[in-house]
Amino acid sequence: MSTVFLNDAFMPITEAKISPMDRGFLFGDGIYEVIPSYDGKLVGFGPHIERMRSGLAALEIPLDWEPARWLLLCQQLIEKNGRGNLGIYLHVSRGADSKRFHAYPEGVKPTVFAYTFAINPPPPADKDKVQGFKVSTARDLRWQRCNIKSTALLGNVMHFQQGYAAGHNEIILYNARNEMTEGSSCNAYIVKHGTVITPPLDHQLLPGITRLILLDILRKDGTIPVEERTVTMDEVFDADEVWLTSSSKEIAPVIEIDGKPVADGKPGDVWLAAQTLFSANKYNY
Ligand code: PMP
Repeated sequence: MSTVFLNDAFMPITEAKISPMDRGFLFGDGIYEVIPSYDGKLVGFGPHIERMRSGLAALEIPLDWEPARWLLLCQQLIEKNGRGNLGIYLHVSRGADSKRFHAYPEGVKPTVFAYTFAINPPPPADKDKVQGFKVSTARDLRWQRCNIKSTALLGNVMHFQQGYAAGHNEIILYNARNEMTEGSSCNAYIVKHGTVITPPLDHQLLPGITRLILLDILRKDGTIPVEERTVTMDEVFDADEVWLTSSSKEIAPVIEIDGKPVADGKPGDVWLAAQTLFSANKYNY
């Protein structure tokens, strides 16, 4: 049975209880992270914790854990739940107040919850073995602060469900100007004439840690050009390759969008080169 961390203690998941007055429960008032760990090795611990700390600061949630405290928690969870392919889920809500009132309460202790769950092994850098994603598309109807990794994920959940109900693995979202924003749970990219292109960071998308690591690896390697710029949906449908990234999928090649194949409907050569570089360098972050 999985051992989880809630507030100051480890316990079996069945014993973990929170108050119904917790603002995470009532308002989705919290921040979370998912850090992948393979055989006890974390990917992107530093940037994940930095993003969490900046989310807590943006929400003015007063939790002053240093990165070393988070690292100890991750290591303890791995130790208690076994090595393997794990997602380490870290969650901080503003805590339980005595009443339901929108304004941030004073003197309430944030709730810290963490647990691990099994994730797939990292995708093989092999065009014949990797799972190609089939996706839907939809107008992005989420809020205007998608750069904050908030636990209030109903907009994302409803979009994911739209794709899932259509039998798809994900859904690619676009704004009112027909520009791609991201997936419901991942960042999105196209490849055109050998260049990897992804939308720039702004309020419309999450600053993904896999995105950060991938772009850094590609720029340092220098063989595949990278651009951060607006991508229209016309460009998405005309792309040579389309990819999605997240901590649990790494780089997922998209082979079909709204029932139409992406190029020849198979993972591409640039994906193969990028996933190979990612697999070789990801533990440096
Ligand atoms: N965008 C959204 C909306 C997400 O939920 C996620 C994470 N699941 C990502 C992008 C990718 O972020 P990361 O690479 O840090 O997992």
